[in-house]
Amino acid sequence: MEKKQNTRPPYNVWKTGIKSSNYRKNIIELMGSKCVQCGFSDIRALQIDHVNGGGRQEHLKGGHKWQAILLSNLLSGKKIENYQILCANCNWIKRVERKEYRHPRDVQAV
Ligand SMILES: [Zn+2]
Repeated sequence: MEKKQNTRPPYNVWKTGIKSSNYRKNIIELMGSKCVQCGFSDIRALQIDHVNGGGRQEHLKGGHKWQAILLSNLLSGKKIENYQILCANCNWIKRVERKEYRHPRDVQAV
């Protein structure tokens, strides 16, 4: 079987032993654990938002890889410009304002 050419070597995040299921939690904590818009801080409703949109595509393509990269950058102290923490409300409002709908039917719900 042929190996994929673009399989990347492990990011250092994998050496930390953080499970991929915990990437989100760790990222949110490292990014301040609160919504940058309104300060909401219940981690259960906080989301990692791709500042310039297009995150969904990235997420679909890369699975947990984008989180591994982001977490790796956070752990190594790099400045994060592409992502921010938003609560579900603010993320939804942003999506509506930017017309980043998940499904066409969401437009009708607004
Ligand atoms: Zn918020």
